Amino acid sequence: MSTTDGMASGKDRKYLPDFGLSSASTARVYDALLGGKDNFDVDRSAADVFVAYLPKSRETAWLNRAALIRGVRYMARVAGVDQFLDIGCGLPTMMNTHDAAQEIIPDANVVYVDNDPMVLSHGRALLEDNKTTTVITADLRDPTYILGHPGVSAFLDFDRPIGLIVVGMLMQLHDSEKPNEILAELMRPMCPGSHLFITTWPDTGHPAQHALSRACIETLGNGWLRPLDEVYDHFLGMELVPPGLEYLSRWYPEDPDGPDVMPFEEFEPYHWTMMAGIARKSSD
Ligand code: SAM
Repeated sequence: MSTTDGMASGKDRKYLPDFGLSSASTARVYDALLGGKDNFDVDRSAADVFVAYLPKSRETAWLNRAALIRGVRYMARVAGVDQFLDIGCGLPTMMNTHDAAQEIIPDANVVYVDNDPMVLSHGRALLEDNKTTTVITADLRDPTYILGHPGVSAFLDFDRPIGLIVVGMLMQLHDSEKPNEILAELMRPMCPGSHLFITTWPDTGHPAQHALSRACIETLGNGWLRPLDEVYDHFLGMELVPPGLEYLSRWYPEDPDGPDVMPFEEFEPYHWTMMAGIARKSSD
């Protein structure tokens, strides 16, 4: 694998990771919900809190993961994107961004970013033989650091379209942290044809949404719902590709009207908790 984390001096970093094992971490709790092995008792207890608030929290995590893979496939196969910046990538699991992208474009470049250093150590092990994928430890709230990181400049060519993936994590940023300014800073150097792919938690009034948010705030200290107009604002005015912003079970960008789109009548409470969208940058 190519790991370039050691090349970054870190002196300009605004956020230093501090992920002790005495409290739950988002990456490990999510791994526990997905049935992974890279978590500790404290994370499994937090996962149980999620399930207590929203009984199908594990299914929700898998819905999100499946949407991540569909979005990557859309960008690689339909939009022809062959380089990806996946921020808040999480611990590796059965199918990851680079697996999905490189199935379609074998030499697609992928830069994984997460602020939890455990993601770096597990990513290193997984990606040992993968020459076009790297993983770095950095914080979404520090876009200048991410864009200046040698791993990013070594793996991504900003003169060609990039897929920026911020999936399952914007809800962890409070409004005061100005998530849209961060996204705008990340998208600014990307050329037309680049894409922004987001999944997050909408507030459309369903109790399941509030249950999930409460579980997250109680265990991890964050997890904010946003009304739909604020979720749309994350896309910075760029045009969404079909089917637009949708609940995950209705979001199939490669086949927006296809047979897998779930009718609302079949929705269970957990189907209301997350939405996805991909926007395309059309001009500078
Ligand atoms: N993107 C993956 C997915 O959707 O399957 C993982 C989602 S997981 C719920 C959220 C991930 O974001 C965790 O791995 C967590 O460590 C990471 N994360 C949370 N806040 C972050 C931040 N400020 N900067 C970078 N990563 C962050």
